[in-house]
Amino acid sequence: MPKRSITSADVRGKRVLCRVDFNVPLDGSTITDDTRIRAALPTIEWLRDHGAKIILCSHLGRPKGKIVEGLRLAPAAQRLSDVIGQPVTAVRSTIGDDARDAIAAMQDDDIVLLENLRFNPGEEANDPGFARSLASLADLYVNDAFGAAHRAHASTVGVTEYLPAYLGLLMQREVDTLGKLLHDPERPFAAIIGGAKVSDKIAVLQNLVTKVDALLIGGGMANTFLLAQGMRVGASLVEPDQVETARQIIQAAQDAGIDLLLPTDVVVARDIKASEGQVTSVDAIADDDAIFDIGLESARAYAKTIARQKTILWNGPLGVAENPAFANGTRTVAEAVANAEGFTVIGGGDSVAAVEQMGLADRIDHISTGGGASLEFLEGKTLPGIAAIPDRGADA
Ligand code: ADP
Ligand code: MG
Repeated sequence: MPKRSITSADVRGKRVLCRVDFNVPLDGSTITDDTRIRAALPTIEWLRDHGAKIILCSHLGRPKGKIVEGLRLAPAAQRLSDVIGQPVTAVRSTIGDDARDAIAAMQDDDIVLLENLRFNPGEEANDPGFARSLASLADLYVNDAFGAAHRAHASTVGVTEYLPAYLGLLMQREVDTLGKLLHDPERPFAAIIGGAKVSDKIAVLQNLVTKVDALLIGGGMANTFLLAQGMRVGASLVEPDQVETARQIIQAAQDAGIDLLLPTDVVVARDIKASEGQVTSVDAIADDDAIFDIGLESARAYAKTIARQKTILWNGPLGVAENPAFANGTRTVAEAVANAEGFTVIGGGDSVAAVEQMGLADRIDHISTGGGASLEFLEGKTLPGIAAIPDRGADA
């Protein structure tokens, strides 16, 4: 059932508490990447254009319930002001008197950004008292923080007990796009899953193996699959306790009749910091070598499969892409995804960073703004921040 959207609400003259994800990377007080702030613009602009009083709230970093000067949200207010072209008032408390005073003074279309939610221990504890205080600041609530949707916190779940709650436009786009992949993808549909460990992605692999037409595996986790196939992987990162899981996924792929692609050649080195590696076949890995990337032959095979798809989901780098010596597999796959005619989706912090760094981000159809949240969504889990919003058609 689709969730109730903010676009169905009458917000004119109302105080709208809008949970956003302004958890941006900071270098001192400088925001080094404002993607998350820009991603929140559609909802903020919609609220402004419909005459709401916009009260934004977000967490930033992990202050663990205490005030941490370096994690104040003032820099985010300044950046939002720059990109939206109107003043944004940053208040230095979340539910304190200065927040109340600033809100009492608001005109329609004004924007206030409350202080970092996680300065209050009630936020992560989903404390009802804190949730009620937050709710008392506003008439309506909208959740547009997809990156925090997998957390049952006061600002994502608790507050919905006390205010009419709606989904924001970014949230809606994430839910619609990722939901379509799981329930109604255009076929053929391939998932490329990489990253360090099988254990991080078991639930995603298990959920996707019955839904995709092809599953392409790379990154450190491919090593455990190679081990499961009886290869010797030398000094590579492996999880012997996940070999059985890898076997089950190989079997599930076979039973479902889908293509499972594992690397046939790899880039090995003695050290993750090495300035170059050697390409070898997966059946010829020396005992003191470790696998840090998929090889060119594998990358080309993956690229070929990617080009044939109508839908492509990518989560997790194919190698240690932070080191240029081991970034070629990830680069070849990134280029194939960027060039693909099918609908392309990327989720996962490190994969998104890789695509951005390679300058390919604007050729991807949907880049998910939630790392952990998109992973849990793709695992098939119900995200508490989404579940807390009433279904469309529910009374306000
Ligand atoms: P994402 O954030 O996109 O979901 P992950 O966090 O799961 O991706 O995985 C990224 C990490 O995986 C990176 O730190 C990368 O160095 C590591 N990694 C990838 N391939 C290997 C490998 N062959 N050996 C060790 N680590 C790897
Ligand atoms: Mg990561």
